[in-house]
This record gives sequence, structure tokens and C-alpha cells, in this order.
Amino acid sequence: MPSAFVDDAKEIKEDNPFESMMQRFDEAAARLNLDPNIYKILRWPNREITIYIPVMMDDGNYQVFTAYRVQHNFARGPAKGGVRYSPDVNLDEVRALASWMTWKCAVVNIPFGGAKGGIICDPREMSPTEIERLTRRYTAELLDFIGPERDVPAPDMNTNEQTMAWMMDTYSMHARHTVTAVVTGKPIEIGGSRGRKEATGRGLLFVCNEACKKFGLRVNDTRVVVQGAGNVGGTAALLMHQDGYKVIGLADITGSIYNPNGLDVPGVLAYLKENKTVEGYTEAEPIPSDELLELECEILMPAATENQITTHNADRIRCRILAEGANGPTTADADEIVSAKSIFVIPDILANAGGVTVSYFEWVQDRMGFFWNEKTVNNRLHEIMVSSFNDVVGFADKYQVNTRLAAYMLAIDRVAYDTRLRGIYA
Ligand code: NAD
Repeated sequence: MPSAFVDDAKEIKEDNPFESMMQRFDEAAARLNLDPNIYKILRWPNREITIYIPVMMDDGNYQVFTAYRVQHNFARGPAKGGVRYSPDVNLDEVRALASWMTWKCAVVNIPFGGAKGGIICDPREMSPTEIERLTRRYTAELLDFIGPERDVPAPDMNTNEQTMAWMMDTYSMHARHTVTAVVTGKPIEIGGSRGRKEATGRGLLFVCNEACKKFGLRVNDTRVVVQGAGNVGGTAALLMHQDGYKVIGLADITGSIYNPNGLDVPGVLAYLKENKTVEGYTEAEPIPSDELLELECEILMPAATENQITTHNADRIRCRILAEGANGPTTADADEIVSAKSIFVIPDILANAGGVTVSYFEWVQDRMGFFWNEKTVNNRLHEIMVSSFNDVVGFADKYQVNTRLAAYMLAIDRVAYDTRLRGIYA
């Protein structure tokens, strides 16, 4: 069924991530017999902000960038979610990402709602000073909407610790005092958390370990294919390699490489850092990018972007476990095909929740003004990822549904319960 958001005149497209999210939401709500009034409320984002940002470019001319912040839900606490810089950003994508944040925070049971931001720009074509001006003006435009008790941005694709430092500084200049807890994913020296940078990848490692235990897979015999070599994919590949997994395939946007005997992941990442591409790396075979996802392996980890596993290729993937590092890498239409192949899915809203979990730790530490060591951060992350994994698997068993649907049901159930508890101010 088309969602209420999609203009009937438009074709419903498989690759619309918001539509993918809504299909699963509707299915989970139906399975839960969700109260129709709560259903109506949870279908809509709370607030959507569109901003046109003038930025002075280095040549003295101005360019106007379109930017978004979607705040999906506040029932369980301040909204939380990253900011993405990309030429492909659009409002439906940001809406989908914002709602996934609501469900993700609920799956790992941390006291946040969901939000997401995006700016249509190509940071590869911009200088650091242009990116800084864009970031500061975007933050200034959002001053009334963000804050430690309102909405707490974080990095996402093409944004990083430096972006968060600029956002924190801009917000603090206007507040007239330093407000570290306004963003997470900051440099450690200015209020960041130890372990945040690696947290999403580490969370993926923890849930993959649990899935391997569940299926009796020995780590050393477990072949892993990772799409994406950035903060999520690169870190996950490295940590899994260090733990003894055999990472046989890795891709970034420039190309894909394969070595059936296992890649030397630190070597690949060092090569990538130096050359800005995996192309030309000699200790592996280059393969066409669409073939990477079809390699035979035990764990397939799409950790790059949305819509990578679709009705066009889902029947060709050959893994035992699909661990979704990216948000929305599998379309809703492809779910059924994946399910029919008995692939065990660790859905994005569980698998990549390590990042927001340690962002929560960062927010807590900033507000306490007391910082934890890395071991404490990692142990607490481990505890949350393992118990959330078990919660999702438990829900799947209880309701006899697949793990994706179970994760949505668990999340919607929690958000619905808290919405009812607060009551509706109408
Ligand atoms: P990033 O910018 O650090 O890295 C993205 C990587 O994906 C790069 O290596 C890029 O070359 C590669 N890539 C992009 N498009 C590709 C394609 N079509 N084929 C192959 N490779 C491609 O971004 P990131 O922070 O690692 O985020 C990746 C995904 O994980 C996104 O979906 C993001 O929303 C999600 N995510 C990120 C975090 C986080 O903490 N950073 C947390 C949860 C989820």
C-alpha cells in the first residue's frame, strides 16, 4: 500500500527509502494491532525544516544550498540523528533516515527520539573553508530547533568530527557559553567520547559475534564481504579482521576488491588512505562492484548507502547472515526474496545502532562533565548490543516473524507505549 506521504500521482518507487520504511512500519503496526490513533500519530514526522543557505565561496561568489532537518519523534527524549552532506540528499531520504533513528533508539532502548539532517552539496568539490561556512550557517539557522534537550546532531556520510566541532562552536557562540552536549561525534579533546569513532563498526562486530554463536559458525572460518570502507564499513572490516574473521571482499565508491584467502584489511585501508581509491591494490583481484554483493560468504555487510539489495539482485546474494551496516541498504520489496532464502538478517536499526549508543554515552558524559575510559565505553556498548540482539531475536520467536519485522515491532511497541503514557496534548 502506498504511504500517506506519497503523492498518488507519483509512481511508487522501490528505491524511495521513505516508502521502504513505511511499508515495514505498516506491516509491524498491523502485526502489533497498534491502536489506530497511535498509528496515525507515529506515521508522521513531528517537524520538517527546509533551509536555503547562502554561502560565500572562495572565489567571492555566493552559492545557495538546500538543506533539511527532519525531527521525526520526541516521545522518548530529545531527537537524535546525523547530518549528511551529499549531492543526492532529498527530503524523502532525510525523512526515512529520521524515522529510522526513532526506531533505532527504541530498539537499543536509549532515551532519544529520531531526527536527521542533510545538505545537498558535493563536499569533494568544496574547500574546507567553504564546508566550514556552510556548516556554521546551517547550525545558525537551526539554533531554535537543536540543543541538548531538543535535538542532538551527529556525523553521517561525508561529515565527521571536524564538522561536529564547527557545529558545537557555532551553537556555543550564540549561547554565550560552551555547550558540548549539542552534538555528538566530536573530537575527544572538546567533549567527544572515547570509542565513538569506532562505535558503529564495533557494534556490528558484537552483533555478528552473536549471530555466529547462534548458528555455530567458527569465526576463523567465517568469510565476510563488506561494501563501504568509511567510518562504518572500514572500521567494521578492520575490527572483524582483528578478531579473526576472514574479510574476503571490500568495496568503496571507486571500486571493489576480492581475495578468497582473506584481505590484509589494515593494508587495504592504508592503501585507500594514501590513494583515495582501492583501484590498483595489488594483493587482491578487482571485481565489478555489482558482483561484490553476490560473492559467496557467511556474512554480507552492506555498509555504504541505501538501496543496494533490491528486487534486481536479492536472489543472487549468497550469504548466511546479512548484517546491515548502512541505513536502508535493503529495499522493502527485496525483504521477501531475502527471507525466502532463509538468510538471517541483522536489520539496520539493530546492526548499526552502536554509533547512536555511544553518542548517547557521549551526551551523558558531556552533561556529567565526567568522562569514561574506553574499556567502560566498549563494555557498556557490548552489554546494550547483546541485549538488544536478544530482544529482537526473542520478539521474532514470540511473534514468529523475521528479525526485520521483529525489530520494527519492538521499536514501535516501545514508542507507542511511551506515547500513551505521556498522553496526547491535542
Ligand atoms: P562514510 O562517508 O564514512 O563512508 C561511506 C563509504 O561508502 C565510503 O567508503 C564510500 O566510498 C562508500 N560508498 C558510497 N557509495 C558507495 C557505493 N555505491 N558502492 C560502494 N561503496 C560506496 O559514511 P559512514 O559514516 O561509514 O556511513 C555509511 C552508512 O552507514 C550510511 O548509510 C550511514 O547512514 C550509516 N550509518 C553511519 C553511522 C556512523 O556512525 N557514521 C551510524 C549508523 C549508520
